[in-house]
Amino acid sequence: MTIELRNLTKRFGSLTAVDAVDMEVGDGEVLCLLGPSGCGKTTTLRMIAGLEFATEGEVLLGGKRVNDLAPRDRNVAMSFQFYALYPSLSVADNLAYPLHAEKMSKSEIERRVAQVAKTLQLDGILHRTPSQLAEGEKQRVAVGRSIIRDPNCFLFDEPLSRLDVQLREEMRGEIKEVLQDLSRPTVIVTHDQLEALTMADRIAVMRDGRIEQVDTPHNVFARPANLFVAGFIGTPQMNLLPATLKGAQGQVATFAVAGDQEMTIEVDRKIATLAPGAQVTLGIRPRNIELSAEPVADGIASKIDIVEPMGAETLAHLNDGHHDLRLVTDWRVPLTEGDRLHVRFPPGATHVFAEDEQALRSAS
Ligand code: ATP
Repeated sequence: MTIELRNLTKRFGSLTAVDAVDMEVGDGEVLCLLGPSGCGKTTTLRMIAGLEFATEGEVLLGGKRVNDLAPRDRNVAMSFQFYALYPSLSVADNLAYPLHAEKMSKSEIERRVAQVAKTLQLDGILHRTPSQLAEGEKQRVAVGRSIIRDPNCFLFDEPLSRLDVQLREEMRGEIKEVLQDLSRPTVIVTHDQLEALTMADRIAVMRDGRIEQVDTPHNVFARPANLFVAGFIGTPQMNLLPATLKGAQGQVATFAVAGDQEMTIEVDRKIATLAPGAQVTLGIRPRNIELSAEPVADGIASKIDIVEPMGAETLAHLNDGHHDLRLVTDWRVPLTEGDRLHVRFPPGATHVFAEDEQALRSAS
């Protein structure tokens, strides 16, 4: 089973909520649609489920076009939140509920409830009602209810958004395990990057109805395709520093940054495709910047503006009146607000984004 979207577009009047999306979710693959509020994630999910008609383009399930099929004929399981349990029904009856509509025999219902209970480790609590369950157990029952019909694929909209931080952390891991066992294509909508990074096999980053990058969690973090993805993924946010290319020799390029500073660093070899004078944005993660007591050729001087202890690490904001950089160091490194210091951009740690906001990146 696969989910394929081809040129999928949804317009509400003059607003294009989903704009020519092409995407494929493989059998057993978990894909997270990640992006800021209003970028079209839910609308995309609703078109796959059949709850929203596509203005243009196609939805294919298992290679078959389903645009004209009603939601129930698509055999997809869509759950908005893992939460709406019937308070007066036992766990077993909550699990069985979706099967009653299918006119299934009692023995088959019992078989499926037992199977799902085993998968989700609910065997011991089948007789309890939701009020007698811990939050994590409720969550698992709700997951069980969406998988018990054995649908073709799973669609989840912000599944963990109502949980507190600790439970979210626990459930991310658990849900990932459950979904792996189910071997169905699954799309999870979230605006929480940690949720996406931990649960997804691949992440599709969306902005303004378009997909900016579809890639593994590692690659959207380590090889962002453009400025938007670079700035959206990662906490604290990647430093994005406007610069002018002075010249390049192979992979070693010299850039001028505001405040009459220059630095010569090793970047992607595609830098050779830009002419001197090109305006670029340099991107470096706060954890990749190195401190130096002495002036360095592969970095710049700056001043410590604000120091924020974060437990094991310290986040420092550097600002010399021309640029703003965030730097994360081990908590033991002494940092004093107002001090001047030098920062290095180590070889290979800096991303270069051209004027069109695309990353300069040679194929690996
Ligand atoms: P969120 O994370 O806030 O739910 P989202 O990425 O899921 O956001 P959508 O809910 O898909 O975004 O909405 C995309 C755009 O389409 C938004 O601008 C929204 O206001 C608009 N929109 C969604 N549904 C409708 C509708 N039924 N009628 C008109 N506009 C709509």
